[in-house]
Amino acid sequence: MQHTLNKSFTLTDIGLHSGKPVKITVKPADADHGIVFQRVDMTDLSAEEQKIPAKWNRVVDTRLCTVIANEKGANVGTIEHLMAALRAAGVDNALIEIDAAEVPVFDGSSIRFIEAIDEVGTAAQNAPRRAIRILKDVTVQEGDKVVTLSPSTVPLYEGRIEYNSAPIIGDQSYTLKLVNGNFKHDVADCRTFGLVQDVEAMKNAGLALGGSLDNAVVVDDDRVLNPDGLRCRDEFVRHKILDAVGDIALAGGLVLGHYKGSKAGHDMNNKILRALFADDSAYEVTDFYIDIEEADMDMYLSDTAPKETAAAL
Ligand SMILES: [Zn+2]
Repeated sequence: MQHTLNKSFTLTDIGLHSGKPVKITVKPADADHGIVFQRVDMTDLSAEEQKIPAKWNRVVDTRLCTVIANEKGANVGTIEHLMAALRAAGVDNALIEIDAAEVPVFDGSSIRFIEAIDEVGTAAQNAPRRAIRILKDVTVQEGDKVVTLSPSTVPLYEGRIEYNSAPIIGDQSYTLKLVNGNFKHDVADCRTFGLVQDVEAMKNAGLALGGSLDNAVVVDDDRVLNPDGLRCRDEFVRHKILDAVGDIALAGGLVLGHYKGSKAGHDMNNKILRALFADDSAYEVTDFYIDIEEADMDMYLSDTAPKETAAAL
């Protein structure tokens, strides 16, 4: 079934790129509302004009983070860590009021959003969840970057990164099954990261002004500059999985498929959704009644189960 929040919550922190304080209030919303951002500080616009649906076809920039905008010029960026938390916690419907152009960064992971959602809890709504079932492989490739969506009865997120210039990152792979709270336990607190030379270049360009060791892992060759080190050895690739969950959540429903990204970022994640929705034979939209964030999916489904198994539930 579709879910929303039991009640609203409000969080405040700085934006990663602006360095300025931002407040978000995440509110319950009706069934079939979806996730919608509202730029309440853009007071020249009406309430409706301030709203930006969190959908793949609203993405206007993916260079440093995922940015969405509407035709009235209302925009909001760095949405991916919040979107990942909402998807993983099974929140289908919410209105997110925000008073700046960027979601607050916190520690550069999704954990603060997960905690806030857990504090208020979620409520089932009287409507089936919308699932986007992948029917055949769809691939986007650019140079050595590749993303594929393949059929799977369980939402799977598989990622690989390779940083030859930073031995401490090196070659890492990870696979997340997006069921049973795995996201919360295994990737939610994995932070965004950057190489020290890239961070310096961004600051010189007036970007990442709020960036610090409080909200990102900064890597210099074979060491991590953060005094407390890493939260897990493969925190880097786990963060890429976190980003992918947030970016693919812009499909507008639960994607029942196997995401596989190699050296992929926000740009490739948006391109794979555009490629998917450009091919009517690659997906179908179905009603889905299992609460994957809670249920032990393995009791119902396995990765090798035929498609009919899931369709019959
Ligand atoms: Zn990220």
